[in-house]
Amino acid sequence: ETITVQELANRMAARQGEVIKALMKNGVMATVTQTIDADTAELIVEEFGHRVRRVAESDVELGIEGIEDTPENLVARPPVVTVMGHVDHGKTSLLDALRTTDMAGGEAGGITQHIGAYQVTLASGAKITFLDTPGHEAFTAMRARGASITDVVVLVVAADDGVMPQTIEAIKHAKAADAPIIVAINKIDKPGANPERVRQELLSHEIVVESLGGDVQDVEVSAKKREGLDKLEEAILLQAEILDLKANPNRSAEGAVIESRLDKGRGSVASVLVQKGVLNKGDIVVAGAEWGRVRALVNDRGRQVSEAGPSTPVEVLGLTGVPAAGAPFVVVENEMRAREICEFRQRKLKEHHVAGQVAARGTLDQMLARIQAGEQKEVAVLIKADVRGSAEALQATVLKLAHEEVGVRVVNATVGQITESDVQLAKASDSVIIAFNVRATSQARLLAQREDVDIRYYSIIYQVADDVEQLVRGKIAPKH
Ligand code: GDP
Repeated sequence: ETITVQELANRMAARQGEVIKALMKNGVMATVTQTIDADTAELIVEEFGHRVRRVAESDVELGIEGIEDTPENLVARPPVVTVMGHVDHGKTSLLDALRTTDMAGGEAGGITQHIGAYQVTLASGAKITFLDTPGHEAFTAMRARGASITDVVVLVVAADDGVMPQTIEAIKHAKAADAPIIVAINKIDKPGANPERVRQELLSHEIVVESLGGDVQDVEVSAKKREGLDKLEEAILLQAEILDLKANPNRSAEGAVIESRLDKGRGSVASVLVQKGVLNKGDIVVAGAEWGRVRALVNDRGRQVSEAGPSTPVEVLGLTGVPAAGAPFVVVENEMRAREICEFRQRKLKEHHVAGQVAARGTLDQMLARIQAGEQKEVAVLIKADVRGSAEALQATVLKLAHEEVGVRVVNATVGQITESDVQLAKASDSVIIAFNVRATSQARLLAQREDVDIRYYSIIYQVADDVEQLVRGKIAPKH
């Protein structure tokens, strides 16, 4: 009653990496050559939109009759935007200002509610969805759980302060997520504002704005004076057009949890972003390891609605528990199926938790599996060292180890102890952390264990080179 990951991927005509990712989402760590049981296989098959037909007890026959989103049934959907940037550069102010540009809000009434995201309808009728938890923690935490919900990143840089450490971090996160950036040069009302300097400084971080011959849009704004907001929104819509964002509205809903909490009066309240299909009141939903029948849907104006389509944020009432931010949600056909999936996931999560305490090397194993299968063409590493000289030397050393089949990418090479933010970036970019004469904070260590991020400690450069070389060749390097 088992099937290898490889065979499963073949039968579904899916990429092995995608299957491994889907397994991970369900708390199962497996390499391509490992076998998984029929129940697990069935779950994965359904996640890929296929229907399962078990011909015999011993066989899992996979039909290809599921919901396929073909080009004909795709319809344009609003872009989903995350605002990132250095502290105090005006992320919150900008989100507040943008929120008031909503044209539909006035007549529809209702008081704005914080549900983790909001949608504005512009005078033209176009819509934009903003995640209103600014900063990169939420962004990477979500990505780490496999939810990629951001289409566009608005990078806020204060015109009087310029590029700062968290600006650079935000750029790295956006790049790791493959999300295009639009630069919002904020605080142009201030006497010391120097937008040109911001553009110049961004150059050294490979952000080349249009006026300097690049393809990154930049807009000068003042969140305080509410200037340039329309231009920023235009830029976002233009970017959305380039991305050709589409979803099939005529199918059962799928999406991701943005945030969730337990409310005294209302019970479990989960804010979700619908990514495909339409979510209806009464639908049976599985979110992470929780499930429930949707008792009510509440929009960002605090109003009850009967349905929510692609790119719409909405609060879901009626789940049995509180799912994690970033957890995927999906509508299933009945309660029995929902219970089955949740029990399965809870069991796997427990098993995984126990296994995780013994050895947290899921990411590395999977990376190796993908390299061995010829699926992964690149080894990604994140370097943290005690001094700048070492960080630079390590970067140069590992970059030289690339060969024609497998490249090496240095996601980041910086100085200092390993923090949770490093672990999140490593998780999001599928990289191994190389710690050179530095330690991880205890929170970072815990997070790494929970998220299966491999942190390797070294004090000798050639040992780093040895290990990375083995990794590039698809062999497991021993831990030092
Ligand atoms: P965040 O930490 O990035 O969310 O930044 P905030 O939105 O909290 O803004 C930090 C400070 O900058 C606050 O005192 C804001 O009032 C101020 N601020 C934000 N945008 C502007 C602007 O466009 N012009 C001016 N003069 N001040 C601004």
